[in-house]
Amino acid sequence: MSESLDSGPPPQAPTTALRQRLAELRGPAAQPHPLDARALAALAANPGCKRRALLDGAGVDKGALASALGSPATFGQSQFAFMRGNAFEARVKADGGRELLKLLGLERPAEVAVPELAAAGPEGRTARTSLALREATATGGWTLLDHPLLVLEVAGSAAYLEPDAVVVHPDGRWTVVEIKSFPMIDGSADAAKVGAAARQAAVYVLALERVAALTDGASVAHSVLLVCPKDFSNLPTASVVDVRKQLSVTRRQLTRLTRIEDIAAALPEDLSFDLETCSAEELTTAVESVPHAYAPECLAACELAFHCRDRAREAGAVETLGRPVRGELGGLTTVGDVLAAARGEAGDPDDPTVAALRRAAALRAESLEAAAHRGAEALAC
Ligand code: SF4
Repeated sequence: MSESLDSGPPPQAPTTALRQRLAELRGPAAQPHPLDARALAALAANPGCKRRALLDGAGVDKGALASALGSPATFGQSQFAFMRGNAFEARVKADGGRELLKLLGLERPAEVAVPELAAAGPEGRTARTSLALREATATGGWTLLDHPLLVLEVAGSAAYLEPDAVVVHPDGRWTVVEIKSFPMIDGSADAAKVGAAARQAAVYVLALERVAALTDGASVAHSVLLVCPKDFSNLPTASVVDVRKQLSVTRRQLTRLTRIEDIAAALPEDLSFDLETCSAEELTTAVESVPHAYAPECLAACELAFHCRDRAREAGAVETLGRPVRGELGGLTTVGDVLAAARGEAGDPDDPTVAALRRAAALRAESLEAAAHRGAEALAC
C-alpha cells in the first residue's frame, strides 16, 4: 500500500450539471484546455485565487484569454526548446528503458518491461495505466511506464496528469521520473528550476498514491528521479530529489481550494469566457467578476499575471508588494492607506502596524533632514 495513509478517496467525476456549466463558461465550441501538473502546482501555490481555479477547472485557455485581454503572457517554451526537450527525453528512454534504469543506479538491468499504455480517451488511458501498475506490481521485476496518464480530482474537477515516466521496482515501489532540459552542472542545477520540478513531481506522486491505495503491495516513493543534461552536453545525468515537503504542501493546498461549483454558483448565469464570441470588453468584465489573489509569484506561474497585476496596481493593492509585506501590513490594504497611516492622517495610533509606520516615517524624515543639513554645510565650505 501507499506510504501515505491520507491519500483520500478516489477522484469523483464532475456531475453532468457541473460539466455543462463549465462548458458554457468556456464556450460550447471550445475544446477544454487540459490541466497539467505544472498548472496544478501553480494552483496549489495560490489556493486563494478563485479566478485561476475557475478558469482552470473550466478548461479555459488562459494564454489565449490573456492575449484577448491585451496582456499576453511572456513565458512558455519555444518550438526549438520543445524539440530539443523531446530529443533529450528519447535519449533518456533509449534501449527499452535500460538507459533510464542505469540512472537509478542499476548497472545491468536485465529485463525491463515497457507495457503499452495506449487507449481511447483520457478515462481509457488512466484505466490502462492503473491496470499496468497493478500488473507490474504483482509480477515483480522492473517496469517502465512511458507517459502514463493519472487522474486527480481538484476542486470538484478531474485533472489528467502525464508524468514523463514511472518506474515500478521489483519490491512494489513506484518512482516518478521527471525529465527536464535545464542543465545539471557539477551535480547541481538551478535551485528555482529544481524547486518547480519538485512541486510538479509532487502532484504526480499525489495522483499515484490514489492508485497505490487500491493496489496490494504497492508504495509510492516520496523521492523522485530528476533527469537533466549533464553539464553542457546532452548526456543524461540524474539526481534523487526528496519531495516530502512539496507533497505535504500540495496536498494541504489542494484541499483548501474552493470547490468550482461554489465559485460558479456565485457568478451571473450568463457569464462567459468564450474567446470566439465575446469581445475584449465582455471578457474583461467576465474575468473581473471572479475574485483573484494576485501576488508577484503569479508572474512566473500564471498566464493572466500581467492583467491581474495591472488591476491590482490600479486599485493600489498592497498585494503587489509581495506576500511578506502584505502580511506585515495587517488591515491596511492599499498603498494609499499605508501612506496616510505613516503621515498620521489615518489609522489607529494604538495599532502596532500604524505605530511602526509612523516611527519609520519619522526616522526617514529625520535622516533626510540630517542629509540636507550636511549637504548645506558642504556647500558653505
Ligand atoms: S495571475 Fe491572476 S488569475 Fe493567475 S493566479 Fe495570479 S491572481 Fe490568480
